[in-house]
Amino acid sequence: MEPSKILSGFNSAQFTGVYCGVCGAQAFIAPNAKDCICTYCEAYLAPGMQKSGYSQQFGAVHELIRQGKVDDAAKALDAIDPGTDPVRHYALSSMYSCLSDMRYADVSYALPGFMHQNADSRNDEYDKNPNNSMRLLSRSKELLFHAIYIINDQLKSNDAALLYIEFMSEIKLDRHAKAAKLLEKLNTVAGNELQASYANMVYAVETGGEEADAYLSDLLARKELPSLYYLARHLVSKKELAHAGKVLRLLGGKADMPRALRLLKKIEAVEEATRL
Ligand SMILES: [Zn+2]
Repeated sequence: MEPSKILSGFNSAQFTGVYCGVCGAQAFIAPNAKDCICTYCEAYLAPGMQKSGYSQQFGAVHELIRQGKVDDAAKALDAIDPGTDPVRHYALSSMYSCLSDMRYADVSYALPGFMHQNADSRNDEYDKNPNNSMRLLSRSKELLFHAIYIINDQLKSNDAALLYIEFMSEIKLDRHAKAAKLLEKLNTVAGNELQASYANMVYAVETGGEEADAYLSDLLARKELPSLYYLARHLVSKKELAHAGKVLRLLGGKADMPRALRLLKKIEAVEEATRL
């Protein structure tokens, strides 16, 4: 499918970032769509969902992220208490993951010599570089484990919204066997059509399943913008790097999705290396 055709017909949405606080202007959906998946954190959004009390706190951190102030953003994130709300843990995790990428991207391999200029941001020793990429990534993963723990132990496991968050947390931790069990459950719960379709697509792409093409076509036809990221991953698995890069650049022009940016950087590094 031609990427530019996929994007035609998108409207800027009225959906607000009830969880991660970033989605408002960033979520693009098909006209008349009744719900969508957040491009930033991949949470499920429907009209009428109330903004959570913490989306303002998260909004302030996004502003620091936009300004490239990694240390200030990390400090602000560290001060947020995720409490016992699993979705808050999940949304906070996306922000740490984004910061980790930013810190890692500070490092330029193009510099000559021994890259002294980058030594500080590259250093993984906590006392020399407290907000190093590894620390931020570990915190991101820790929050996903906490989200899963809370959902399993304290909440109703047949709640579609929570099953979906638990599924996405397992996927982001690369625990495919656990994700498969949750997907089975999610497919039996009624009234969660978009969450189930999206989860089936994500699982098929992440595990290289044969059904990936069919699920992707369905989500792309529904103009679910974050599914472009999975289309790109699918193209990478078919070794179509140039095409995947094109899809990701198109997505990047429309929405803020840290995972997509990370994948694009990897593809560009490979392209650069093959040119040399
Ligand atoms: Zn979000």
